[in-house]
Amino acid sequence: MKRYKTGFIHSIETLGLVDGEGIRIVIFMQGCPLRCLFCHNPDTWEKGGKEVTSKEIVDVVRKYRSFIELGGGVTFSGGEPLYQSEFLLDTLKLSKKAGINTCIDTSGTGYTKEYLDEILKYTDLVILDIKAIDPEGYKKMTGKSIDDFNYFKEKLKEKNTRLWLRQVIVPEINDTKEYILKLKEYIKDFDNVEKVELLPYHTMGVEKYKKLGIKYRLEDTPPMDIEKIKKLQELLK
Ligand code: SF4
Repeated sequence: MKRYKTGFIHSIETLGLVDGEGIRIVIFMQGCPLRCLFCHNPDTWEKGGKEVTSKEIVDVVRKYRSFIELGGGVTFSGGEPLYQSEFLLDTLKLSKKAGINTCIDTSGTGYTKEYLDEILKYTDLVILDIKAIDPEGYKKMTGKSIDDFNYFKEKLKEKNTRLWLRQVIVPEINDTKEYILKLKEYIKDFDNVEKVELLPYHTMGVEKYKKLGIKYRLEDTPPMDIEKIKKLQELLK
């Protein structure tokens, strides 16, 4: 009998509309190595959560077959899905075997290197979060070095993976025309980019920080102005 890999998830959301093509079943995985200033899911940071097998995940996704047949699929988000590389790979393989379109929504960090090639082989689309484009900015934004992200970026090129890029725009950190023009140059270094989205910083996660007793480091930062972000998005065209 096949032994399925076991992993830890935070929750499952059905009928996601923005995390990949069509209607998605989104698996929020538990655990993340980064500590982004703007993170609104601090409850996914630590390891733990609900223990499940790869087969259990795919069985849940299969229940939504009718949506999947309409062009949707499964998206692994988090937390950081690559943080449980072996479990992620097993679940991706099973998903593809079941004819399910697969997507990972990732920061491009926290992976176990030996699984990366295969993870990308069984992933139809990567949604990659750019946290910052330079090493200092990246360290400030996430608390970690940009090196792992850069390695992942090269892997994406090597594997020719289809890619959507996302960047959260935070007032007084990266909401300037100058930054967006630099970002525009920076993304030329990726292959296969189908979409670039700027996401507005919001403060909807603040209550979670209070509940968890974690200091919210952007407490003086207002939510990003939607009209301004629309103008910044225009610059990327
Ligand atoms: S990578 Fe995502 S889950 Fe992890 S800290 Fe950053 S925003 Fe939060």
